[in-house]
Amino acid sequence: MFQFEMLEKHDHEQMTLCSNKSAGLRGIIAIHDTTLGPAIGGVRMRNYDAINDALSDALKVARTMTYKAAISGLNLGGGNAVIIGDPKKDKSENLFRTFGKYVEGLGGRYIAAEDVGTDVADMEYVRMETKYVAGISKALGGSGDPSPVTAYGIYVGMKAMMKRLYGYDSLRGKKVAIQGAGNVARYLVEHLNHEGVEIIITDKHHDKLKSIVGSVKAHIVKPEEIYSVDADIFSPCALGGIIDDKSIEEMKFSIIAGAANNQLVDEKTHGIMLKQKGIFYAPDYVINAGGLINVANELEGYRQDRALRQAEGIYDTLLKVLELSEKEDLPTSAAANRLAEGRLQMVRGMKNMYTGDSTFSGRFGELTRKNR
Ligand code: NAD
Repeated sequence: MFQFEMLEKHDHEQMTLCSNKSAGLRGIIAIHDTTLGPAIGGVRMRNYDAINDALSDALKVARTMTYKAAISGLNLGGGNAVIIGDPKKDKSENLFRTFGKYVEGLGGRYIAAEDVGTDVADMEYVRMETKYVAGISKALGGSGDPSPVTAYGIYVGMKAMMKRLYGYDSLRGKKVAIQGAGNVARYLVEHLNHEGVEIIITDKHHDKLKSIVGSVKAHIVKPEEIYSVDADIFSPCALGGIIDDKSIEEMKFSIIAGAANNQLVDEKTHGIMLKQKGIFYAPDYVINAGGLINVANELEGYRQDRALRQAEGIYDTLLKVLELSEKEDLPTSAAANRLAEGRLQMVRGMKNMYTGDSTFSGRFGELTRKNR
């Protein structure tokens, strides 16, 4: 019963448990909503302490993916998969190919992509058993690393936040504090540096910082110092769950605009706290949609220039979120949810008008969506 309650709480459509002892597979595929199209989402591999943590993670991320696709204007639904295990020790061809058979069994309702703990090589094993995989290497006709498009989306998103706050969108002379010096940050600093931004950066691994400060001018601080530095914009590009009572208390930023997923520890409470403190928060799933836009492009025959152009749309989407937030006196996170839900409802309404099937055409040929 408990699992049904978890599904019903946020209207998830489906949860598939995948188990194969000889392959060492214990996994979950969560499908939140396929109103807009097949559910797309990453495959996470992690040693969860408890099965319910894995379930909650899969369901939470699947729902975020629905909202991310909806607000980005993509015709995709939201899904997510988790594989329980240690990514450093438990990976094998057998594991990922067996997982791929489960994905195939869903007949295109779920499209898998890499996520935390998995990489392109793992997805290539999954692809041996199913065509419903995205985010594969360029050599195999895929879109490769999504980080350049994600970083570009963050950059244009920062500009949109500037525009609403100051009436101009130039970042020249502004200070940006970046948490995490990984793949997204590596591309983001190039855009910022080019526009004359003063960069402050931290990472818990010093070698990551070395490669960044080798290419651009940046001031390094300790990880625990990043929330209280004197900067205009905070860009969380490391982990989620970092905006809480304590970090908000330390912040003097005007804007938060970064790539990490699920940045607010409690969406409602911390969304309100940021608003009360006058900090403009770019909802994570809106500003970091470049990665999903990149993968969605792969489904139609990948071209990075087209993906980058579509990621520019994040600017206007954020302006709409900020406008609604001001008009309705809502935290920006709530305003984004309202816009995403509005699009889902609109498409559900359209579907009720159909007499036949609607068809999603793309790399997979035809994925037919019956009226639900
Ligand atoms: P990454 O793993 O390449 O980089 C993250 C960096 O953060 C690492 O260098 C890590 O050492 C550092 N880090 C971790 N904890 C830290 C801490 N407490 N303080 C300081 N540094 C810390 O990841 P990425 O691909 O650059 O993605 C960054 C974030 O954006 C992730 O949360 C990811 O889920 C999210 N995201 C990424 C993409 C993408 O296209 N790569 C798309 C959407 C969302």
